[in-house]
Amino acid sequence: MADCIFCGIANHEIPSDTAYEDDKIICFHDLEPQAPVHVLVVPKKHIACLDDLKEEDRGLIADIMLKIPEIAADLGLENGYRVVINNGEDAFQTVKHLHFHILGKRKMTWPPG
Ligand code: C5P
Repeated sequence: MADCIFCGIANHEIPSDTAYEDDKIICFHDLEPQAPVHVLVVPKKHIACLDDLKEEDRGLIADIMLKIPEIAADLGLENGYRVVINNGEDAFQTVKHLHFHILGKRKMTWPPG
């Protein structure tokens, strides 16, 4: 999608520090990390947010969920990690292209801010 920064990264028009990539998913290190390890797992298909998911995306979302533990293991997050989706304005979603944050290598607190 034009003017979408994560589409630009997925299409390699915008450089990123890529941790994993396949034909459907790209994962790259966040530019403003909130933990010692902070990557974003992004479907290459432009989906603005969870509310825009369609039945046809079921397999893609399952693939992402199954890939996240593999990526976490590759990043050495053997002691646990947090997966975050900020969905919509109240959740402070700043990039309107669905993405899954993986944060690790520090103790998290609860509730989140
Ligand atoms: O969930 P939310 O939309 O707030 O998160 C967007 C994330 O994308 C932020 O953590 C921000 O640092 C990251 N980002 C990035 N590279 C960009 C633009 C945003 O890593 N070029």
